[in-house]
Amino acid sequence: MTFLVNNPEEFAADSLKGFTAAFPNHVQLVHGGVVRATESPRGEVAVVVGGGSGHYPAFAGWVGPGIAHGSVCGNIFASPSASQVTSVVKAADNGGGTILLFGNYAGDVLHFGNGANQLRAAGIDVRIVTISDDIASNTPDKHDDRRGIAGDVLVVKVAGGAAAAGLDINKVEELARRANTRTRTIGIAFTGCTLPGAKEPLFTVEPGTFGLGLGIHGEQGISSHEMMPARDIAKMLVEKVLAEEPARENGYTGRVAVVVNGLGATKYEELFVLYGTISELLADHDLTVVAPIVGEQVTSLDMAGVSLSLMYLDEELEKYWVAPADTPAFRTGNIENAGTRKVVEAEDNSVIPAGAPASAEFARSLAEILELFEKTARAAEPELGRIDAIAGDGDHGQGMTLGTTAAAKSARESLAAKAGARTLLSRAGAAWSEGAGGTSGALWGGALAAAGGVFSDETAPTQEEIITAAIAGANSITDMGGAKVGDKTMVDALVPFADSLKENISSSKSLKEIWNTAAEAAQTAAEATANITARKGRARTHGDASLGTPDPGAISFALLMQAIADFLQ
Ligand code: ADP
Ligand code: MG
Repeated sequence: MTFLVNNPEEFAADSLKGFTAAFPNHVQLVHGGVVRATESPRGEVAVVVGGGSGHYPAFAGWVGPGIAHGSVCGNIFASPSASQVTSVVKAADNGGGTILLFGNYAGDVLHFGNGANQLRAAGIDVRIVTISDDIASNTPDKHDDRRGIAGDVLVVKVAGGAAAAGLDINKVEELARRANTRTRTIGIAFTGCTLPGAKEPLFTVEPGTFGLGLGIHGEQGISSHEMMPARDIAKMLVEKVLAEEPARENGYTGRVAVVVNGLGATKYEELFVLYGTISELLADHDLTVVAPIVGEQVTSLDMAGVSLSLMYLDEELEKYWVAPADTPAFRTGNIENAGTRKVVEAEDNSVIPAGAPASAEFARSLAEILELFEKTARAAEPELGRIDAIAGDGDHGQGMTLGTTAAAKSARESLAAKAGARTLLSRAGAAWSEGAGGTSGALWGGALAAAGGVFSDETAPTQEEIITAAIAGANSITDMGGAKVGDKTMVDALVPFADSLKENISSSKSLKEIWNTAAEAAQTAAEATANITARKGRARTHGDASLGTPDPGAISFALLMQAIADFLQ
């Protein structure tokens, strides 16, 4: 139960405001989250963390010298948007590039991915490392597909330590990935958590039992167990985590970083009771514990529960795990005061840079296409909604209308500012993602940004560059969404579309002809999705119901590509 609430919808924002007031020497508010209050050396790699709120200290509590440079703070348990990501990164970047670190959840992957594409188009070197430490959420061979839970703190600390040591972005990225590869967590829940303002918890645990394999967003455990003494719980957790201990080779000699994490409503004294046994068991296994943490690092509102995380160290990982840090929630060693960071007030997004005339002229065509997209989406809205309701949630028509409307409006603003093609398309992508929401909104927004990244603001593109941009847009959707042909998503239409473009890219045919052929391939493939069941996206859970109806995202994709073909006529 959350007792201290003003308006439940503003809980996360109110909390962040109070947090920055409490730690003025560590953090300052920017649009979308917080960045360090202290200055960082020019050229230092920035570590930007983030995700939904409701997990403090994760993620904002780790902002400060030695760990993160900024945190993107979404609503309670909800991924932040791409515009929040870009805003925080721009305020945190020191010219050495930025590593984005967040837990592996579909919404975060899409919105951070979109933000990263926009930032890359703006010339910032952005890398993404998703954290996936929860052994309950997938099999060992699929470690990278697991959820991120309390192991977040281990991975983020290593990345922050490496950045503070002045390592370059390739090396910091490599270390963050290695830290994630070497980190394992298992958790248990005694009670569910209750969203601020809600009367009922998101799930309940049968009294006298606990759930093993909890999530941190009210996902209950994967199995239920009779309550047992703390020492037996300790044994259970240690066994689970040690089942994936790597061989003692390649620099791993049995030294481990350990986090015993409280989920929000479990007392520190209880955590210590548990850790007493854990430390003995680890010693029995001939393991040496390095700088353990027993306390709250990744909580889940008022959930009662605990998790055990281990990072199997090598020399480098240990060095950055124990390196000094001075953040609101994590302090160790000594850090010299570096003076105050003056953040340029969240860059005024209303100022759109003008491009060279040749690029601005081409941008005019892009804006016309986006207007056509809006018209097409509005006309198809009822039908797209109808087919999404059969196996999905019925909002695809609305999502496409909101997204294309926002993109077309943004394009008009860019035209008025005489913007170049790159600027126009990446801004339109951001507007689409913000305006539409949903899976398809994030994917389309990212696609526009990726296509925009192929263009410049100076010159008009060649025919080959235009096709390359379209292929880049299509690729970004497969990269971001991870769907394969046959999963019954828009990918089923866009892969044949992109393949057809690739086949003809260097031919002597006109753009009109090449595009027409590709759009027809998309149309045929979109219709053919009626014959398969969904394996990805929301429709997956009701896959069989979708048989006989085409995938809404594939249909809308084909419609928009056809709209471009009509424009080229
Ligand atoms: P949501 O599923 O969030 O309600 P929409 O209804 O706007 O989003 O879009 C649904 C469409 O998104 C699906 O018809 C499918 O084509 C597409 N989609 C869902 N998941 C993926 C994915 N992983 N990769 C590509 N496309 C996807
Ligand atoms: Mg939907």
